[in-house]
Amino acid sequence: MLILMHATASPLEVDAVAAKVRSLGFEPHKMPGAQRIAVAITGNPGPVDPAHFQHMGGVAEAVSISKPFKLASRETHPHDTVISIQTATAAGPSRIGGGIFGIIAGPCAVEGREQTLTAARAVKAAGATFLRGGAFKPRTSPYSFQGTKLDGLKILAEARHETGLPIITEVVDSSHVEQVAEYADVLQIGTRNAQNFALLEAVSQVRKPVLLKRGMSSTIQEFLMAAEYVVKGGNYQVILCERGIRTFEPMTRNTLDLGSIPLIKRLTHLPIVVDPSHATGDSLLVRPMARAALAAGADGIMVDVHPDPDKALCDGPQSLRPEEFAELMTTLRAMAEVLKVSM
Ligand code: PEP
Ligand code: MN
Repeated sequence: MLILMHATASPLEVDAVAAKVRSLGFEPHKMPGAQRIAVAITGNPGPVDPAHFQHMGGVAEAVSISKPFKLASRETHPHDTVISIQTATAAGPSRIGGGIFGIIAGPCAVEGREQTLTAARAVKAAGATFLRGGAFKPRTSPYSFQGTKLDGLKILAEARHETGLPIITEVVDSSHVEQVAEYADVLQIGTRNAQNFALLEAVSQVRKPVLLKRGMSSTIQEFLMAAEYVVKGGNYQVILCERGIRTFEPMTRNTLDLGSIPLIKRLTHLPIVVDPSHATGDSLLVRPMARAALAAGADGIMVDVHPDPDKALCDGPQSLRPEEFAELMTTLRAMAEVLKVSM
């Protein structure tokens, strides 16, 4: 249930509604909106009687929320959530959502200082607004390169300082959250951890945005319920990421579910970006799918860019060369103008 307060409701009236929710044994969540505040109720096993609230001071309306992802739902929060990050060395903030198409680019993995700094400079020059790079890598094989870990986080911090780009990097285990949050601007949860509920709860306690990838076998509802874990803990800064799902087709690595984008935009206020690199596994497919993501209404893309894909320690075949990424950016800018989207 959602209690919509009048625009003129006082903080005391909002507190009284929250106290009433607690007295019924449920959890209140204050949701500030553009014009007025709402109080969402979670923890109720069944419908709550609106009569509990209808006559309280400052209350405009009590409405039920039909979706199980209560706090992530657009019913609860009609306006787009916008993620905005200002680093110490950037001229202005980097944004995703609310009509702003964010560009997250960089190597799949932080392999070393030169490789990462070269990639960071190249993506920044081409117009990327966030730098990606995994320091901790969740690999299918235990014999594959596992990442540069703490050294990688330090390299990312150096790249941020030089370029001003906020950094997005993956956290693979609850026990690493504190360390990764010390360096990262956005904490990435990978597809393999999309339903690691302990990890989702751990990042819900961090006051930094979370980029949540769709589980490779998650339905849209499971994806949004995973986001709900983060939001429920009080962290409303969640960026969803569609990265393809596993189907019967192995030739495109995963199947990029672009139809989910307009649907997810309707279901939730959280921004959603598309990762065409991990979705397709093939650099030749990345640019067409990045363009399709913008056309489908996504709030951004996340693209692997490597200075020398042939020598990449991780995901080289899907990585764009810097000049290919720059070409993609030129096309996206032209498209964004037609679509009236800011980049
Ligand atoms: C990544 O983005 O580096 C990654 C490992 O992606 P995914 O979790 O989607 O496989
Ligand atoms: Mn990868």
